[in-house]
Amino acid sequence: MQERIHQIYRSVEERKRDFNEVERPFSETEIRGQMERCHNCGIPFCHGAGCPLFNQVPDFNAAAAAGDWRAAFNILSQTSFFPEFTSRVCPALCEGSCCCGVDGDPVMVRQCEKMIIEKAFAADFVRPVIPAKRRGRRVAVIGSGPAGLFAAEGLNRAGFQVTVFEANHRPGGLLRYGIPDFKLSKSLIDRRLGIMEREGIVFTADTRIGTDISGAYLLRNFDAVVPALGTPCARDLAVPGRELAGIHSALEFLQGQNRVNSGELDTLPVSAAGKRVVISGGGDTGSDCAGTAIRQGAKSVRQIEIMPRPPEKRSPSTPWPAWPWMLRTSSSHMEGCEREWNVASDRFVGKDGKVTGIEVHAVAWSFSPEGRPLKPEAVSGSSRLIEADLVLLAMGFTGVPRAGLVDELKLELTPRNGIISDPARNIYAVGDCANGPSLVVRAMADAGKTVRNISEALS
Ligand SMILES: Cc1cc2nc3c(=O)[nH]c(=O)nc-3n(C[C@H](O)[C@H](O)[C@H](O)COP(=O)(O)OP(=O)(O)OC[C@H]3O[C@@H](n4cnc5c(N)ncnc54)[C@H](O)[C@@H]3O)c2cc1C
Repeated sequence: MQERIHQIYRSVEERKRDFNEVERPFSETEIRGQMERCHNCGIPFCHGAGCPLFNQVPDFNAAAAAGDWRAAFNILSQTSFFPEFTSRVCPALCEGSCCCGVDGDPVMVRQCEKMIIEKAFAADFVRPVIPAKRRGRRVAVIGSGPAGLFAAEGLNRAGFQVTVFEANHRPGGLLRYGIPDFKLSKSLIDRRLGIMEREGIVFTADTRIGTDISGAYLLRNFDAVVPALGTPCARDLAVPGRELAGIHSALEFLQGQNRVNSGELDTLPVSAAGKRVVISGGGDTGSDCAGTAIRQGAKSVRQIEIMPRPPEKRSPSTPWPAWPWMLRTSSSHMEGCEREWNVASDRFVGKDGKVTGIEVHAVAWSFSPEGRPLKPEAVSGSSRLIEADLVLLAMGFTGVPRAGLVDELKLELTPRNGIISDPARNIYAVGDCANGPSLVVRAMADAGKTVRNISEALS
């Protein structure tokens, strides 16, 4: 029986020179070997406790392992409309609760999913799904990230006539304007949009609802309105020196590179070339900044994080089948990014109006008996300067802005600035704008639930 494969990326030297997907191609033998490791468990936690979409992992793995790729695709597409996206960018919550992971390595479910969907595209199994009957009802989806796209696809399949309004130049949300091409090639978004258009979904880009078209207009002209706005407000680091040049939000930096790659822009608005780059925030967005800065030719890349270094193995605070809190090393980290934990920032320092460094101090954490970090304490005498010519702030997002659609439609917000749906007015918020910043797969699963709610409400 095959083991989990640990060498999954192209070589660092090769991938650092391009923006193509970092993962290496796998042979059918390798992936079928993984599918055969799948136990077809009596109680498959992967899709109960793990996958928010409830992907039937053991069933599609069994079908594909037996060589029936069409059946595998049919099983996968019952729950997931866009496996080509999740199979590239999902952290694979299913793998965190895979039974093989109890005392060994989980099955490589994400790569199995990828092979099934790519074989399905190659064999022309992936066709437009046109509903047998239209309901004569119209739905406006605002925003075309994974939540908006999933809602549009589900509603269209349920017989609604769907129009997606997008403020950006091209649909895709963070799939297109956040996640780097080396994780997700944008040609995959275009391939999917082509199918959705053939299904009858209308995309209206370069149109900000609440500014270019009012929300009130949509409420008058559509039977339901689905805000899928994401959480565009980035958390700032409001310490002295923040006004210095050379301090940018992660998204500003990442978007610029994606737009240059696609030809939307000629030059990078923010470039890391030849610079000492410090990324504030130890999460995935920060890691994406690291990979991008390395490809741009940064002199050095360092990612700092106030939280403690996670344990090498699953922390007892997140026992199986929960998603494990543990150290994760991304492909970008392996490309030459130094990481530091327990670091708090005090102020930016600069010269001639430009940032030259961050003054930081160390913190020490106290932990719960299970190992969960509780509270940081400043370590006295630990102040030091980290030199930087470019600082990228990747500390998360704080919800939706009130200005624009939220104010105009008097939408209620949660304490964390998430939009609360208002079914009485046929307004159904989905994805990150409703639940806070999360994951592609969670945004899609939330949209799936909303499709069911709208279908019932407007039956
Ligand atoms: C840099 C980065 C990397 C990430 N990497 C991963 C990853 O690898 N894996 C993963 O699972 N998750 C990742 N995430 C998280 C994931 O991208 C989000 O959880 C997901 O995209 C949320 O989907 P969404 O549809 O709710 O919002 P978004 O993807 O943010 O889409 C919202 C869309 O709404 C549009 N919009 C907003 N307001 C209006 C308006 N008034 N009118 C019209 N359009 C509007 C926006 O332009 C945008 O296109 C990452 C996030 C970031 C920032």
